[in-house]
Amino acid sequence: MIPFLNLQKVNQRYRFDIEDAIRRVLDSGRYLLDQNLEDFERSFADYCGTKYAVGVGCGLDALSLIIKAFGFGPGDQIIAPATTYIASILAISRNGCEPVLIEPDIESYNINPDLIVEKITPATKAIMVVHLYGRLCRMDRITDIARRFGLKVIEDACQSHGASWNGRKAGSLGDAAAFSFYPTKNLGCLSDGGAVTTNDASLARKIRALRNYGCIQKYDSEYQGVNSRLDEIQAAVLNIKLKHLDSENSRRRQIAAFYLNSIENRRIILPYSSDKDSHVWHLFVVRSRNRDRLRRYLWEKGVETLIHYPVPPHRQKAYGWDDISLPLTERIHDEVLSLPMNTALEQSELVKIVEAVNSYEE
Ligand SMILES: *Cc1c(COP(=O)(O)O)cnc(C)c1O
Repeated sequence: MIPFLNLQKVNQRYRFDIEDAIRRVLDSGRYLLDQNLEDFERSFADYCGTKYAVGVGCGLDALSLIIKAFGFGPGDQIIAPATTYIASILAISRNGCEPVLIEPDIESYNINPDLIVEKITPATKAIMVVHLYGRLCRMDRITDIARRFGLKVIEDACQSHGASWNGRKAGSLGDAAAFSFYPTKNLGCLSDGGAVTTNDASLARKIRALRNYGCIQKYDSEYQGVNSRLDEIQAAVLNIKLKHLDSENSRRRQIAAFYLNSIENRRIILPYSSDKDSHVWHLFVVRSRNRDRLRRYLWEKGVETLIHYPVPPHRQKAYGWDDISLPLTERIHDEVLSLPMNTALEQSELVKIVEAVNSYEE
């Protein structure tokens, strides 16, 4: 069986550096808010081209703390894509704000900029964009709308570490951005982890406080904060892996190019090609009308696939929004299938995957 993702193998090549880094943290006796985190925050901000990066406990907290730090809450609306992982929407509702869901553009699966303006009301405070599957949103159009209506732009960059557009990287394309370092992400640590990037000094300062009980100085709470910190071991691992992010992303692009050039099956819709740098292929997502059948077929041929995502946020029991209908989003969720896409894949495995996909019939 070709696994969807063999994380052990992905991290194997960094094994000695990681072991060494963990040993150094252990021996230092300082496990939180210390040198490794400071180093990582500096390097990650430099990498993204922002003035600040603030490490937090996970991607959901990163998004949620951005909204809290901007001061948005009950009565405020935030525009967000309907086609996304549930965490994007949870970050909005957790702050008491109302998510206003927008259908995607069928070519990119990202929020359709043409549908945003009609949803703006006096209560709208921000537009959240999600660079889904690793592909950047049309930020020129979105920034334009945000400027016109005085809205903040929040990037959910949890799937797009390193993607760039006109020389600017994900994380630097809005007013603030959230990253996740969950182990399967393009830049992943060995547990949960996340970061906020921004050029806004007061926002960075506030998130730095919020992640640590609202304190800038110990025992001096300026805000009602939370406990959401990126620990020293994870920061040390990320310092190692950040150096290899660009080369891992170029390997992902090679694999995507191989799939795009070799998969030929009229029952399968491939992802639309895009400007090379603006996609980091967190996932390689195809569509098929008989998705579940295709998935079973590939499994029988020895290829494990996953579905990102089987149920859209507005159809989740947690929300109970039965009155909302988003036909395009629902269709996409019924048709998508993710092929293996990671740096542990061997060429022989890629060939086998392509053969299996090409031999599928209905
Ligand atoms: C992974 C992910 C998140 C959440 O990140 P966690 O670190 O798991 O909390 C949010 N949004 C998107 C699009 C993601 O892929």
